[in-house]
Amino acid sequence: MSHGDTVHDIAVIGAGPIGLFAAGELAKRGYDVIVFEEHPDIGNPSHCSGLFSTHIFEIVGNKGIAHPVKRADIIAPSGEKLSIGDSTVRGYVVDRVEFDRAMARTAVREGAEIHVKERTRKIHKNEITTTLGEYRARVIIGADGVNSLVRKSMGIPGPKLMGAVQVIAEYESEEIERVKIWVGDSIAPGFFAWLIPISDTLVKVGLGARTRAWEHLTNLLKRLNLQPLSIHGGAIPITQVERTWDSSRIIVGDAAGQVKATSGGGVYPGLRSAECAVQSVHRFLSEGASLRAYEQCWRKSVGKELKIATYLHGLYTRMTDADFNALIHDLNNDDVIRIINKFGDIDYPSRVAWRIFRRKPGLLKYTHIAARQKKF
Ligand SMILES: Cc1cc2nc3c(=O)[nH]c(=O)nc-3n(C[C@H](O)[C@H](O)[C@H](O)COP(=O)(O)OP(=O)(O)OC[C@H]3O[C@@H](n4cnc5c(N)ncnc54)[C@H](O)[C@@H]3O)c2cc1C
Repeated sequence: MSHGDTVHDIAVIGAGPIGLFAAGELAKRGYDVIVFEEHPDIGNPSHCSGLFSTHIFEIVGNKGIAHPVKRADIIAPSGEKLSIGDSTVRGYVVDRVEFDRAMARTAVREGAEIHVKERTRKIHKNEITTTLGEYRARVIIGADGVNSLVRKSMGIPGPKLMGAVQVIAEYESEEIERVKIWVGDSIAPGFFAWLIPISDTLVKVGLGARTRAWEHLTNLLKRLNLQPLSIHGGAIPITQVERTWDSSRIIVGDAAGQVKATSGGGVYPGLRSAECAVQSVHRFLSEGASLRAYEQCWRKSVGKELKIATYLHGLYTRMTDADFNALIHDLNNDDVIRIINKFGDIDYPSRVAWRIFRRKPGLLKYTHIAARQKKF
């Protein structure tokens, strides 16, 4: 089987936001970049809730923004509500399909060549076999999501995954800038449920759960008296993979498990990691430096926060409804809410967590939960 005479500098497998960002940045540096996407329409199907932190737009500029988010209600199984936030913009709701398309337009403008409806079927060393042809590249970037073929071709076991399901429903939001989060083992065991207004009359309601996510979401929809207009499911990585590089390939984004296990947010850590990928691939192609630098870079940049998120996620997979009720009650006071509003950052939850523990050392009692048997 011939893979042709042309050797591209870089082949990116997967035109999600992370692959497209890496493709655009590398094309900007003058490299010949080819991107393969299995779907015919970039951004579709979308499984994402589209709640993005402000940091994302510092990296990629304004893309797909629908409206800002300033406040959140966190609701315990008892019904007690912890209301956080103020007039500060904490993040944005985005039209995720438009966001991905805008990322693609930028990548193309920078000179990347995108092949849609061309699934990669096989990777062997530097050779790529797709549904439409055969190619070679000096570097292959696997940005092909949770079931990454590139990762499998490198013999790297995948991250641990959490099932998630989400619907769009009609709902009159009193306040479009406020999101709702439900916590509790009986509501979304091992994760949480969310309601995110996407317009004055439509919301995304979803949840992650260690098992039977759809059954749990159906129960919540009944309680809220909501009818699904569309349903999407997906998987959220809750751990990172052990290795993300070899002599000519790297994996980035969901493929590498670069997602915050506390929130399921993968776009910010994926983009930060893609910045490392761009630097390392550039040094590999221009100076022959090892791609190991990629792994060192992303672990330094976001790896610590991702590890803390996995630890915190481990705590709430061990919590009972009674624990959640007690925790929300303990946090629901002016002192703690002031700290959350001052230091809260969706992408760096550990920063506010340490401040709360310092101010309220009594809350450290919840860390004993770590010693309990894990529920999954
Ligand atoms: C229900 C749900 C809600 C979420 N909500 C949020 C949120 O609010 N905020 C947030 O930051 N994150 C959220 N996430 C996570 C976020 O969607 C991902 O972290 C992000 O999409 C990762 O981007 P990526 O480019 O790594 O992978 P993906 O977006 O999965 O893109 C991978 C691309 O690769 C393509 N592909 C795969 N295999 C092949 C192949 N063999 N050949 C060619 N193409 C291939 C796929 O079609 C896809 O387009 C959510 C996830 C889920 C499941």
